[in-house]
Amino acid sequence: MGGRPAHHLWQAYTRDAPQPLTPQPGIANDVSGLNATAMRTVAVAADSAAALRQLRQLLDTARARHLPVAIAGAQHSMGGHTVAAGGMRLVMRPFRYLHLDTVSNLLTVGSGAHWADVIPYLNRHGRAVATMQSDNAFSIGGSLSVNCHGWQPNQPPIAATVESMRVLLADGRLLTCSRQQNQQLFRLTLGGYGLFGIIIDARLRTVPNALYTYQRVAGPAEEYLVNYRRYVDANPRVQLAYGRLNVTKEHFLEESTLNFFVVHQAASPYADLPEPGLANLKRAVFVGSKRDAYGKQLRWDLEQVFTRNEVGKTFSRNQIMNESPALYLNRSTGQTDILHEYFIPARHYNHFRRVLQRCIPRHQADLLNVTLRNVYADHDTFLPYAREEVFGFVLFFNQALTPAAEADMIALTRKLITEAERLGGTYYLPYRLHATPAQLQRAYPRFQEFLQLKQKYDPQAVFQNQFYQQYRVETRNDQL
Ligand SMILES: Cc1cc2nc3c(=O)[nH]c(=O)nc-3n(C[C@H](O)[C@H](O)[C@H](O)COP(=O)(O)OP(=O)(O)OC[C@H]3O[C@@H](n4cnc5c(N)ncnc54)[C@H](O)[C@@H]3O)c2cc1C
Repeated sequence: MGGRPAHHLWQAYTRDAPQPLTPQPGIANDVSGLNATAMRTVAVAADSAAALRQLRQLLDTARARHLPVAIAGAQHSMGGHTVAAGGMRLVMRPFRYLHLDTVSNLLTVGSGAHWADVIPYLNRHGRAVATMQSDNAFSIGGSLSVNCHGWQPNQPPIAATVESMRVLLADGRLLTCSRQQNQQLFRLTLGGYGLFGIIIDARLRTVPNALYTYQRVAGPAEEYLVNYRRYVDANPRVQLAYGRLNVTKEHFLEESTLNFFVVHQAASPYADLPEPGLANLKRAVFVGSKRDAYGKQLRWDLEQVFTRNEVGKTFSRNQIMNESPALYLNRSTGQTDILHEYFIPARHYNHFRRVLQRCIPRHQADLLNVTLRNVYADHDTFLPYAREEVFGFVLFFNQALTPAAEADMIALTRKLITEAERLGGTYYLPYRLHATPAQLQRAYPRFQEFLQLKQKYDPQAVFQNQFYQQYRVETRNDQL
């Protein structure tokens, strides 16, 4: 690597803070760093019988004293979904047992487990997660409660892989929910943002840990969908796929890569999960692209070289899905990184891409990354974001921590939601609460019914978070 790239990366590396940010004692926050909230934090006992007793007592106390209860997984949601001022925050992390039934291949998993616990466990049994996010840092409870999706092409979100769950209601009843039992609660809790009950554990379908070969197609972003149909849809052996768009100023959202993994061998011979290499270099490349045109160009160019070299190499499914977001999560205090995601019907992919090309440069937010995912219609949850086949545009922005930058981000988000809705699309709910109540109602037409059903299962509104507190009041006023 020549002088300028090496110098740039060294600067980025040395300027980067060494440790992730941690909130002060007595204050809860989420990964955005924008939702500091004073509340009491309670860690749930690791032993499942003791934890159930403890949770029932806490719920009794909460009901008696009218204290809101917010449930926290890994806290990678960004809109205060895991906090409620003055309340109790249940940290489910210790609750992470795992058991694979080797006959049915169903995994029973405690809701506090992270994918980073699940993947090595399944790996030892030759199995892998069927649907999850693109990284391994999220909890099972948090993943189910937002109904996540990832690089699994031509699949609905995670709800489709849930066989059943045990949910603890505000009144202390423990109910098993599935497509046959307590079906309404099953549909509400998946993608229910912790507002109906505590997911204690879930039984998830798993798939074989096969060996895949990496392939890529680079081309104009305009042709991404055509390439997707040709290389992914037409080939049932493709098991993972995602797209990337160029974010440099010169070719803003004009170039794309389609990255996909084709089954090479039905069972992976790999027993261990090697650590992904070059972590410091990859982080410096990413951090060095923030607010820096040269850094963005360097990152795109290096990724092209790197991924071209990877073509034809084989990886196990577990190896690919075991990536940590520590490679790119923000550690600086004066700024934050914010995600948006818009789910656009496939036929409008290019229209929405042009909307992004037009709108984003008019705002201050610095677009760092765009990935594209394919998601099939979700028939399992009460508030589906994918009502037909959609392409998810995942946008990762760097934002300064100033009132002006926040106001600008709100304006941009509202504009993009309006454009997505015009095309019959939706936006993802776990991120910042910038949507107007009317926008939320349009994207999720059953939201009022969702709130009414919350009263049925949680009449005292024990389970709360900022998402609920904001839209409970505002959507009602907005309806008047
Ligand atoms: C860097 C990054 C990358 C991401 N990539 C993706 C992606 O590829 N695909 C995708 O779909 N999403 C993605 N997301 C969003 C992510 O999936 C959600 O934010 C998810 O909720 C994270 O899980 P968590 O454990 O951090 O949940 P938390 O943020 O802790 O919780 C999310 C919600 O779940 C509720 N909850 C948590 N545990 C329980 C429980 N046991 N019972 C009931 N409710 C519970 C909480 O109350 C809250 O409302 C990403 C987010 C980040 C920051």
